[in-house]
Amino acid sequence: MPDIQFNKTRIAPTPSGFLHLGNALSFLITASLAKKTGAQLLLRIDDMDKQRVNEAYLQDIFDTLAFLQINWDEGPRNVSDIKTQWSQLHRLGIYHGMLEELKQKNAVYACQCSRTQIINCKCDKLELPLDIPNVSWRLRTKNEKPIHIKTLENGIIKTTLPEDMNDFIVRKKDGYPAYQLTSVADDIHFGVDLVVRGEDLWRSTIAQHYLADVLESEGFKNITFHYHGLIMGGGEKKLSKSAGDTSIKYLREQGGTLSDVLKNTSIDEYLV
Ligand SMILES: [Zn+2]
Repeated sequence: MPDIQFNKTRIAPTPSGFLHLGNALSFLITASLAKKTGAQLLLRIDDMDKQRVNEAYLQDIFDTLAFLQINWDEGPRNVSDIKTQWSQLHRLGIYHGMLEELKQKNAVYACQCSRTQIINCKCDKLELPLDIPNVSWRLRTKNEKPIHIKTLENGIIKTTLPEDMNDFIVRKKDGYPAYQLTSVADDIHFGVDLVVRGEDLWRSTIAQHYLADVLESEGFKNITFHYHGLIMGGGEKKLSKSAGDTSIKYLREQGGTLSDVLKNTSIDEYLV
């Protein structure tokens, strides 16, 4: 790895299930890179999806970090800290400011499609008012627009938005900001300059750069990304939160240790 220093990186779990080995791998790589590059480690909880968040999942994040012996410099210390200070709900003003900016730039349109209709969405042509209820806001995108992403190992990668990410949603039908927008806003807000992610989030990263370009955010463009491979479960299926037997909680309750996690994740192959 090049001898390089960063200011801040983050662990950003979504509390929508018990964390699994894949999350553990990502956290351990992030913590290791933070140490090697002198970066502060921020714990950010992506709790905007209120329907899927519950207290047991929030508590599991703290239990898992303790189990993995990961210390962080900034962010909530417990569940009540999240509620009083660190929840994304406390940053709604920032997200709505960003959405307003997109509106001013005429970069978004209202879409009233249901999940099944969205493939054939023609709402762009309808010019519906943005402020009517039960519409999502979609970003107007162009596939040919070049996107530049700074990576740790491969320098600047030039790419374009995948076709199925066209006009991705930045505000959901319930009026709350969508994941791509909150993630960009938070990384800028907290001054993150190193992001570690599993390869499955590469498409999200392209979408987020697209959004940051529209918003003319230099801060986001300067973030370096590090991608790591994913742990494969049986049958080469990506591990998911629904696979209860791979949860860290299950492992803890079975008397597992950190070294079991390290063995199961083959983390040495991923550490840089
Ligand atoms: Zn539509």
